[in-house]
Amino acid sequence: MATSLSRYPLLAGLAGTAVAVLMASLSIATLYQGREEALSHARETSENLVSIIGGDIARNVEIYDLSLRAIVDGARDPSVMALAPDLRRRILFDRATTAAYIGGGYVIDANGRVIVKGNNAAAPPETFAEREYFRAHQHNPSVGLFFSHPYLTYAHGMAIGMSRRIDMSDGSFGGIALLTVNVAYFRSLVNKVDVGPQGSIFIVQNDGAMVVRKPFVDDDINRNVAGSATFGRMTSASSGSYVAKSPVDGVVRIYTFARVTGTPFIVGVAPAQDDVLATWRARSTVVGVLTLLFGLSFIALSWLLALSLRERARAQEELVRLAGTDALTGLPNRRAFDERMDEEWRRARRSNAAVSVLFIDVDYFKAYNDNYGHALGDDALAAVAECIALAVRRPGDIPARYGGEEFVVLLPDTRMDGALHIAETIRAGIKTRSIAHRGSLIGRLTVSIGCASAAPPGLGGAYGLLSAADQQLYEAKAAGRDCVRPMALQDIEVTQS
Ligand code: GH3
Ligand code: MG
Ligand code: MG
Repeated sequence: MATSLSRYPLLAGLAGTAVAVLMASLSIATLYQGREEALSHARETSENLVSIIGGDIARNVEIYDLSLRAIVDGARDPSVMALAPDLRRRILFDRATTAAYIGGGYVIDANGRVIVKGNNAAAPPETFAEREYFRAHQHNPSVGLFFSHPYLTYAHGMAIGMSRRIDMSDGSFGGIALLTVNVAYFRSLVNKVDVGPQGSIFIVQNDGAMVVRKPFVDDDINRNVAGSATFGRMTSASSGSYVAKSPVDGVVRIYTFARVTGTPFIVGVAPAQDDVLATWRARSTVVGVLTLLFGLSFIALSWLLALSLRERARAQEELVRLAGTDALTGLPNRRAFDERMDEEWRRARRSNAAVSVLFIDVDYFKAYNDNYGHALGDDALAAVAECIALAVRRPGDIPARYGGEEFVVLLPDTRMDGALHIAETIRAGIKTRSIAHRGSLIGRLTVSIGCASAAPPGLGGAYGLLSAADQQLYEAKAAGRDCVRPMALQDIEVTQS
């Protein structure tokens, strides 16, 4: 990792970004799961509420129906009907009919007139003949237990009538037994439940007649929701759950409903989705903002690290380059040359290629320094280096300052004739620069060059080739300077290395 980071420093930034994105994804997945859990928890709570309320309604309906059956049985018994009014009432209406939410109990004859009224029943109207429930039983002997729509009673506010038909012994219509259940009962059920600030809870009849709804709205009295877009979903199954946007207030609610068996009632609990998700939203916002901040900081830090690593790698490269460069001439120094020489030598051996080396020495340079001073001597060395670099143009060629006023050029893949050509170009190039040199016989700065070639380099090591070139340099000096002395390596005796 450390080496690949120093080689590809931007990997640190990419890896940091990837880690941050992964963390953010995990956090988003966790938050999403939290949302699903909040929703399903709300649904479970609603299901429980619906089931508790439905159970309460079913139990009361069952008790009231038992009372109704007792009234019907009594009303059909001539001996009961022949009793004194007070005794007859006590036999017909049991204690259940005095429950808090029962508005009144009545025995009504076939003409709609009250024959007997329950203990705490209000004074009855003149006739019940026009009532919905009376007509239902009058025209159909098999209605059984009948629930009316909510209606405004004379004395007890809104109520729902529960009634049964009284059959005469010949099967003809003998009137009805009636118990009125105050809508207050249903209201008390929904009032106990907290459905959140925007939630709603309701009890509706299966034909859409609204019995009670919280929050309570005046318009709900006698309101029918059969035409609403989602009511159909509540009648198509005995229980269920769905999410819908209210056409009334535009609030999205999670509706959970169940029918109360044996009755026309459907109980629905619908908390607003916004209320259900409020806590989750608050928590997600905090977590989301923190994740974003941490993620962005992490990405920024990893890119800062990547950039500084890249800077460091570049600085290091530069240091390595400088360590191998001669400051005065800008050419590679001897250390760099030796390394490259080794590499090139091995490669030449592998590929059986020729290698040549030039050894270049400035003539009478001590005298040049003496005449013009060290500073100008340095300038002259830089000029010589420039001439060498100009003559050596192939990318694989390696010119270097070997030390003092001595230069060396390694020429891979170059035979003697090529090497000689380059050597001559260097020598002539420096001479034609016409750098004045009082200490030289010809009055100009010149160089002597020893040249050695190995083709192929089968004999000895790199050192052998170098020392052969060095020897040739001495030959050139001895021959009067300002000249090139070549030698093919096969011609000389090589020191093995
Ligand atoms: P020859 O023709 O036989 O090579 O004579 P020479 O005077 O060039 O030979 P020698 O090796 O005696 O002298 C080399 C001189 O080069 C000695 C030194 O003063 C000078 N020299 C070496 N390095 C530098 C340098 O970096 N700058 C300057 N200005 N002079 C240098
Ligand atoms: Mg010298
Ligand atoms: Mg010299």
